[in-house]
Amino acid sequence: MALPGLKKIEKTENKAAYRNHCDFSCSERLCDTMDKIGVPREDKWRTLILYMRGLKDYNNNLTMKQRGQLQKLLLDLIRNKEFSNSRYDEVLQQNDSILYAPYIEKLEDAVDESEKLLMDFQQLMQKRRGDVNKVGRAAQIGIDQGRDPRKLISNLRVALHDLVSVMDSDVATLHHLAKTDGLTGLYNRRAFDEYLLKSVVMAQSNSRPLSLVLLDIDHFKKFNDTYGHRIGDQALTTVATIMKHFVKSFQLEDNTSFFPARYGGEEFVLVIPGSGPEEAGDYAEKLRKRIESYNFLIRNSNGKIVKESIRITASMGVAGISPTETASSVEELIDAADRALYEAKTNGRNRVNIWRDVSG
Ligand code: GH3
Ligand code: MG
Ligand code: MG
Repeated sequence: MALPGLKKIEKTENKAAYRNHCDFSCSERLCDTMDKIGVPREDKWRTLILYMRGLKDYNNNLTMKQRGQLQKLLLDLIRNKEFSNSRYDEVLQQNDSILYAPYIEKLEDAVDESEKLLMDFQQLMQKRRGDVNKVGRAAQIGIDQGRDPRKLISNLRVALHDLVSVMDSDVATLHHLAKTDGLTGLYNRRAFDEYLLKSVVMAQSNSRPLSLVLLDIDHFKKFNDTYGHRIGDQALTTVATIMKHFVKSFQLEDNTSFFPARYGGEEFVLVIPGSGPEEAGDYAEKLRKRIESYNFLIRNSNGKIVKESIRITASMGVAGISPTETASSVEELIDAADRALYEAKTNGRNRVNIWRDVSG
């Protein structure tokens, strides 16, 4: 049996030998763990792994989906034990694309939306320019034909007055387009952001609850791969229509109603003013059942049904602010609904999950 003193010397020697090999400045325990999982004793690998771990665990700005993707990247790296220079560059690149994906998606959506709006605006402007020219030409013809100038001026006034009314309704149309999702006709992300901000402030000042349902269609990538992107678009429109009908059937007492919007891609949101998360969870469950039981059909270009009984399911995350929790912000509410949704996905999909502690 070794003497206790000897054991201590061995341990100290090991530590010295260990420090000789590893220059990386982290705790001994951490270096030990890295050794065990086979991470080379190079600063760049150890820094990268710690950085990714830190991001995943402590960066509150990441969505649950991003956390999951980072975790998978990290696990794959450790499992495959490939620590080459090219793999290092690849992991860094993948890490960056996970971090920037939501911003890129949002930016692309915003650019698409603005482009479309600009085109609609240009078209309307061109049409109105044509209308003004027409009025001008009619007046010129009248002058050339020597018609009564007083009559001509009066006609011109009426024509211009009509044009101004038409332009007023153009402004209303553009306003509507700016808030509407082009594919589904639901409110778009911009309208939702505005509405949620306003209604959270209102709910807090009136000490009323408010809940948010975040809905994500299950396995939609596979749906697109199976039936094609065009049918995928039809499915999105169908889900939006189910949501519209659902909202119509729940007009609230104070004449407000649920607010449905397309959040982006295959994700939708439903704001439920006046309900806490439990009640909102019941509403969400009803909506989930309606989507699940919908008999989705595919028709060919002649309208003939070529496939039926296709089922679409959705997972939902619910979070709410209660009248006593005045500190919760819009970001916390969205974040909590996102976490609830992530859990609904990881627990098997096609289910509603409620996040009960928004500020936690
Ligand atoms: P999960 O159950 O985890 O949500 O899986 P998922 O496949 O639904 O999720 P993922 O984020 O992997 O894929 C989303 C898919 O949604 C990929 C994308 O092509 C599709 N998608 C997003 N926007 C549209 C759209 O406007 N039209 C169509 N047809 N597909 C869309
Ligand atoms: Mg999604
Ligand atoms: Mg999905």
